[in-house]
Amino acid sequence: MREATAIIDLGAIRRNLQGIRARVGNRRILAVVKADGYGHGLERVVRALRDADGFGVASLEDATRIRQLEVRQGWSRKPVVLLSGVDESRDVPLLESLGLQTVLHDHSQLELLERSPRAGGHRHLWLKLDTGMHRLGFAAEQTDRLQQVYARVLALGAGRPPVWMTHFSSADEANPHVTTAQIDCFQRAVAGRPGLHSLANSAGITEFPAAHGDWVRPGGLLYGLSTFADRTGAQCGFEPAMTLVSRIIAVKHIAAGAAVGYGGSERMQRPTRLGIISIGYGDGYPRHASGQGATVLVDGHPAPLLGRVSMDLSCVDLTDLPLAQVGSVVTLWGAALPTEQLARHAHTISYELTCGVTRRVAVREIE
Ligand SMILES: *Cc1c(COP(=O)(O)O)cnc(C)c1O
Repeated sequence: MREATAIIDLGAIRRNLQGIRARVGNRRILAVVKADGYGHGLERVVRALRDADGFGVASLEDATRIRQLEVRQGWSRKPVVLLSGVDESRDVPLLESLGLQTVLHDHSQLELLERSPRAGGHRHLWLKLDTGMHRLGFAAEQTDRLQQVYARVLALGAGRPPVWMTHFSSADEANPHVTTAQIDCFQRAVAGRPGLHSLANSAGITEFPAAHGDWVRPGGLLYGLSTFADRTGAQCGFEPAMTLVSRIIAVKHIAAGAAVGYGGSERMQRPTRLGIISIGYGDGYPRHASGQGATVLVDGHPAPLLGRVSMDLSCVDLTDLPLAQVGSVVTLWGAALPTEQLARHAHTISYELTCGVTRRVAVREIE
């Protein structure tokens, strides 16, 4: 039995949702649960987020899992939005039968829906505008073409106006100008056109209250994670929901000058008491953290990682922690050791770390 365990704090997720509520007032909250709830487990996250107004997903598979959970639990259906929409005509019947809402960001999707018979009633559509991120969406500043797109979307929805949406590229950056330009561009494009508005991701929620619109779309904040370079999720006022732990499975003494691990990449500066942790990149602990000054907590005390992270194992310097021993609990990230701190050492963001936890890692839920 491997020791690596992801502890998921469902109470933290619930309180994070309340924290978002407190910031956005009566705006609706589309809880973004794509990528298996940012690696926290889709079903458990959706259970913890019962008070959200809807869910945002990236795949029909995830949308189907939410609908199945609702049936099992006897819950009524919540809005579920496919954030990248559909791209194959055979997906449309499922879209309709599951009562999903879908984003339209490209002409090919308009054509696809126009070719598909509507099951009846209104379609709930989200019309995505590109206001400067240049990833998905219809160009917001091309007024004439946008008018044509809007007319087709109205027809597709049997007269129901779409939710107008856009996505921020840089709301987590210190300089607000990119985002304020995106907000202005969006406002110009939607002026005088009926429909609800949705702009803000997590950083948009904390940094740009003027862009809360009708639907906010938090992902990271729900899990207590941040993409800010200078602020952890906790420093934004949210609770990290995932703690990754494992244990020391061997302790040994090695001489000054000896090298540790693959490639002998790190030589000991002093006689070293070395702990071997049952964690590696096969669990989702980033190999890129090797040699970058990352620390772990051993029985709650910080200790430096040594040498290269391998598939199943990593090494830690226990020289200054004489009480640490085989069986000592090692925290890799979480409430006591910000995920953002390790992410910085691994040249990534906290989202990628939680999304990357692999299936062999055990999960324990706490409230
Ligand atoms: C992922 C995603 C979000 C959530 O972003 P966070 O930074 O996690 O809050 C919001 N909107 C869209 C369209 C997304 O794809």
